Amino acid sequence: MALHSTALGAAAGGSRFWHYNSSSDALTDALRLSRGMSYKNAMAGLPLGGGKAVVLVDATRPKTPAMLAAFGRFVDSLHGQYVTAEDVGATVADMEIVATQTRYVSGLPRTAISGDGNPGPKTALGVYLGIKAAVKFQLRRDELRGLTVAVQGLGGVGYELCRLLAADGVQLRVADVRDASVQKAVVQFGAVTSTPERILFERADVVSPCALGAGFNSTTIPKLQTSIVAGAANNQLATAQDGARLHSAGVLYAPDYVINAGGIISVGREYLGGATVESIRAEIHRIPTRLMEIFAHSSASNRPTSDIADEMARQLLSEAR
Ligand code: NAD
Repeated sequence: MALHSTALGAAAGGSRFWHYNSSSDALTDALRLSRGMSYKNAMAGLPLGGGKAVVLVDATRPKTPAMLAAFGRFVDSLHGQYVTAEDVGATVADMEIVATQTRYVSGLPRTAISGDGNPGPKTALGVYLGIKAAVKFQLRRDELRGLTVAVQGLGGVGYELCRLLAADGVQLRVADVRDASVQKAVVQFGAVTSTPERILFERADVVSPCALGAGFNSTTIPKLQTSIVAGAANNQLATAQDGARLHSAGVLYAPDYVINAGGIISVGREYLGGATVESIRAEIHRIPTRLMEIFAHSSASNRPTSDIADEMARQLLSEAR
């Protein structure tokens, strides 16, 4: 468990159950993700700090109820300094087991506002609204109809995003390592299939990474055939310099932790209390306004959107400190 900042409140961020090549890879992931959560929560206007947990699972150490309960006890040992929820590899049912050991967990199907507890659809809504903002800024278009969006990863967020985009008349290109999800999107949304290797480099109006992070680096950026990158995945840039590379290549990048805040707005408000379905929806609808501010600032100063967002987030954290 990595706690990056508690300046604004309890360090909040999901738990990722994933197979890592080494414990040092897992540690790096936890540290990077926890910083992203501090920036995300600050930019979303939530009174929460940033933290993240990763649990190393693989074929020899599968996720079990005992493992989830042990994880819950570990979360509890910090007495609320860290609040957990779902991330990649974790389900609402898993968080229910964690909740048998600690109250510092959110994303549960307990309250009227959390629905089934799954933050994925709320994240997808924020990303959809963020894509509309990016299209308006970069392509000067108010509508998505007729545009092509390449979606990498058809999980909880990516699939729901496809549903929203398809309803707007978007032509989808999709890829996932799980073939069944791809076939479902073809049948349900008329999507055209791509491959995990090709999807980021498809000719598309928008490329939307919704799988795992670090897809953009000095090798991949020159191969892009889009002018907008806007998706849900955390840590899309391999290094801070890759934000500058996207900017120089004329690609408008919607900073990941700003566009993908819908889920934490939902689980964060569920945890903090006092919110309603309507107030959460209204907060998610403020994501495009924040993005527009970043885009405008980037364009006026000719600096990468990622640098502008980092600066704004760090400013909020230092004011809180
Ligand atoms: P998920 O595990 O439900 O879905 C991820 C999908 O990506 C899976 O279908 C998986 O098969 C696919 N995938 C993995 N590697 C791939 C590859 N190389 N190419 C194509 N597909 C690949 O996860 P999710 O909840 O949908 O989250 C997606 C991303 O968004 C993650 O990076 C997550 O951290 C981020 N995110 C999620 C939320 C949320 O509310 N769930 C919130 C903020 C950010």
